[in-house]
Amino acid sequence: TLEYSLHLGDGVIVDKSEPGEPLTYLQGFDQIVPGLEAALEGLEKGATKSVTVSAEEGYGERDEDALQEVGIAEFEGQPIKAGDELLATDEDGEVMPIRIVKIDGDNVTIDLNHPLAGKTLHFSIEVKDVRAATEAELEHGHAHDPHDHHHH
Ligand code: ZN
Repeated sequence: TLEYSLHLGDGVIVDKSEPGEPLTYLQGFDQIVPGLEAALEGLEKGATKSVTVSAEEGYGERDEDALQEVGIAEFEGQPIKAGDELLATDEDGEVMPIRIVKIDGDNVTIDLNHPLAGKTLHFSIEVKDVRAATEAELEHGHAHDPHDHHHH
């Protein structure tokens, strides 16, 4: 269980755990980016660390093939403009983040890269707790909140 904050080299925090809501994950199950998971291996409760993760060990390099053109009708009248980030649902019902790159008449260029692809990630972390995983967690491949039996 850890608290974390993330910046991209300029010190501006782009993501962090909310106060009192640390992130609990299952080490070794690819739940967090590989470079951070590797840096956290073996840390004990109370440990603090700054971790720099390359794009390759983070969200991957940007893939220019992930730029696609779609018809504006796909957006069903939703107001969009270049630079917008929104969630789209693909044919299989998977929700994924997309970014609007440009709009040219009826053609919309979208970027399917993860917003943090190609970025070097600078994490500051504090380990709040370390415990053994339960059998159910190992079976499911994710951490359970002991106070909440509902999960996805
Ligand atoms: Zn589960």
